Amino acid sequence: MSISENLLRKYAELIVRTGVNVQPGQTVLLTVSVEQHAFAALIIEECYKAGAKKVNVDWTFDAYSRLNYLYADTETLSTVLPWEKEKLSQMVEDLPCRIFIVSDDPDAMSGIDPAKLSEVAQCRGKVVKLYRNAIEGKHQWVIAAYPSEKWAKKCYPDSENAVDQLWRAILTTVRVTEENDPVEEWKAHSEFISKKAAWLNDQGFASLRYRSVNGTDFTVELIPGAKWEGASAVNSKNGASYIPNMPTEEIFTSPLAGKCEGTLVAVKPLSYNSQLIDNFSITFKDGRAVSCRAEKGQELLEKMIHMDEGAAMLGEVALVPKESPVNQFGLFYATLFDENACCHCALGMGFKEVLPDGDNLTMEQAREMGINDSIIHVDFMIGAEDLSIDGVRPDGKAVPIFRNGSWAE
Ligand code: ZN
Repeated sequence: MSISENLLRKYAELIVRTGVNVQPGQTVLLTVSVEQHAFAALIIEECYKAGAKKVNVDWTFDAYSRLNYLYADTETLSTVLPWEKEKLSQMVEDLPCRIFIVSDDPDAMSGIDPAKLSEVAQCRGKVVKLYRNAIEGKHQWVIAAYPSEKWAKKCYPDSENAVDQLWRAILTTVRVTEENDPVEEWKAHSEFISKKAAWLNDQGFASLRYRSVNGTDFTVELIPGAKWEGASAVNSKNGASYIPNMPTEEIFTSPLAGKCEGTLVAVKPLSYNSQLIDNFSITFKDGRAVSCRAEKGQELLEKMIHMDEGAAMLGEVALVPKESPVNQFGLFYATLFDENACCHCALGMGFKEVLPDGDNLTMEQAREMGINDSIIHVDFMIGAEDLSIDGVRPDGKAVPIFRNGSWAE
């Protein structure tokens, strides 16, 4: 590996200090692949230096997961065992800082029956969700990335030094260089995003209007009182602020489900279930996707939209200026990066957290207030070079939000 020790340390420190923001006396739960054990050690040390009481590790291993799906039966894999529940209960009690280091091979599960994958995920999800709901809003967490060889090869298949290239891309997008002070840079970045989100919340837009010469011509209604959010979040238990995603460039909200009209044209390919959908557009009527056209992956796109009742409706609209550092690179095959390239929308599940007191609402209540529900949440990029977005206030006045793919002001 050609990346310097200095850069690795800076990155680890950034994740611990700015990302999850470990407070003295807190417990940490780190989820990381066994392949990244050396980087895990750096993270663990930074956590202790920040005053962590104890750092625990959940080791993951792509090849092990794959073998489980190949050889163990669905029922066995779907069962959450008593010791696992005990461990989850402990998590609810400790409210640890959670650090997720993603490095997955995007094709790790290719060839495994998708029905088996989704059944196991759904069965386990049902149980694990109860514990997750119990810590929602009451703990700090961060997702950051580390380039594995297989992931890098997927992004740069023809490259001799794919891992170095992916490193360069990751470090650029998380604003870490040999010379800079990334902690300071993130402070300014996160303040900028918070200021924009506060402005959007002040405006109280009732709807958004999208236009581009590529054919995007679209209007979507917003939920009255729903918040725009971005970059940082606050642990309601101890007041510590943290940055859940690194990188992050987006300001997002969940629109009013079932209230949009017009066509959105994608500007980047979409990787879905390890397959590509490219050069596509989706047309909405009465809030639902009624038709779609893709040069590549037409069938897959149709299947995705018909996955369930909510899959044809939007769960997210997000604003990302075209100058985003992610935008200069190709597909990362990881949502953490790809959704931060430019403006996007997502089909499927919305975020109840954007509603007033949303953390304490059930999904049922959130749905009644206009949040979409679905088993999918798929982001697709619509941030064209010339994209303009107007916000329309309840009194009908239109205010420019984006011009030529960037903030109007
Ligand atoms: Zn998003």
